[in-house]
Amino acid sequence: MIELKNYLQHLPSIDLIQSDERFRLLLAETSVSNKRLTNWVQEEINCIRQKMLSKCCNKYPYNKSEMIKYVFKRLKMRSELYLKPLKLKRVINATGTVIHTNIGRTRLSNDAVSQVAAVAGNYSNLEYDLNKGERGTRHKITEVLLKELTGSEAAMVVNNNAAAVFLILRTFAKQKEVVISRGELIEIGGAFRISSIMEESDAILKEVGTTNRTHLYDYEQAINKETAILMKVHQSNFKTIGFTHAISTKQLVNLAKKYHQPLIYEDLGSGSLYDFKMGNEPVVSKVIETGVDLVSFSGDKLIGGPQAGIIIGKKELINKLKRHQLTRVLRVDKMTLAALEATLGNYLREEFNNIPTIRDISLPICEIEKRIMMFTDHFNNNDNKWIFKIENSASQVGGGAMPGIEIPTLVLAVKHLNLDSHTIHSRLRQGTSPIIARLKKNHVLLDFRTITTEDIPIIVEVFKKIE
Ligand SMILES: *Cc1c(COP(=O)(O)O)cnc(C)c1O
Repeated sequence: MIELKNYLQHLPSIDLIQSDERFRLLLAETSVSNKRLTNWVQEEINCIRQKMLSKCCNKYPYNKSEMIKYVFKRLKMRSELYLKPLKLKRVINATGTVIHTNIGRTRLSNDAVSQVAAVAGNYSNLEYDLNKGERGTRHKITEVLLKELTGSEAAMVVNNNAAAVFLILRTFAKQKEVVISRGELIEIGGAFRISSIMEESDAILKEVGTTNRTHLYDYEQAINKETAILMKVHQSNFKTIGFTHAISTKQLVNLAKKYHQPLIYEDLGSGSLYDFKMGNEPVVSKVIETGVDLVSFSGDKLIGGPQAGIIIGKKELINKLKRHQLTRVLRVDKMTLAALEATLGNYLREEFNNIPTIRDISLPICEIEKRIMMFTDHFNNNDNKWIFKIENSASQVGGGAMPGIEIPTLVLAVKHLNLDSHTIHSRLRQGTSPIIARLKKNHVLLDFRTITTEDIPIIVEVFKKIE
């Protein structure tokens, strides 16, 4: 047995590493600074020391030259990682799921993209009133448009819809009761739970009814002087079917009138400014017509804009929210406002086809077929290692919007002479232009609903490169 202290003796010093030729080479070949490289050396030596002290050094080198070699191996790895191209990169969505949270949820309209670039690369009147020549408010940028499009008295925007829910509960229901149906105590992807957000906001959750049925008298019996809000939450990512009963927002509004309290707030989840004529995603203006006090929804679900939480409703209440300290914490950046304003402009001018989310959800089958042909035309039967077959399938809307709705589509099932489907799926993912395809029961499927004509040459190149 070799004593631990003998191992430790072999630890190289930082000076020793720095005077090594390999250190100088790394400095010359990479753009990593001397200071950063030295920090890394220190970290790596500390790490070996820690491992030795914790007596699991059998996996680590224990003579000096081996240790030095090991440190340089690590430095090389770390500098390569450092030099790699940007980590956040464009991917091609071949899943057909239009709102896909894992890959950025939605694509912005061209107008939104160019407006972001114009505002981000320059100074702007973000909080400056050009008429008065004095400080203005960023709420103004989107408020007029949101009022126009939804019919609400006032509007504001925060970081995302989760933030909107939190802000509303915290502002109006801190240490007061919020009544909500047990059927609407939902959890959505990424571990957002209504019950948890309520706890965080210090509101007292008062659940009523049952999972499948909640009646007006359930709400009515729950109202007392501590009640601040009757809350409705849209069942975004699931559907209750069968023996069910739920109370509409309008009924809650009427109930609240009878008691001259509490507030009625609806978390719409996705919300929509366009009537898709399918699914049961409410059009926001219809919800406002019920006389509801506050409504919140996401900017980047069916709306097809940037990540944002949109709050609309009664002016007096929105003003109170605008003045809350938390609003400063949850405020959105100029790039978000630029993208949102441009997207809302598309709605106002009824340029629905310019909004990728709406266009993709509504894309006719013949257009999808055309795109498939554009792709397969690049491959002829003789030199081809790919086998393509067109199949009927269904696309999902995704993002917790329109659960259960299947939009008929055509997919291209792809097979390769030498590769199995898992390998194909991962090669498509891991190239320089990543393509995210569907993998279903050993079949790789490309759904061209979310593949644009501009994507097609890129996909062709990726396929040609896979041997
Ligand atoms: C998606 C969703 C949220 C969260 O919205 P984000 O914009 O993702 O923060 C909140 N509530 C409901 C009902 C949702 O569907």
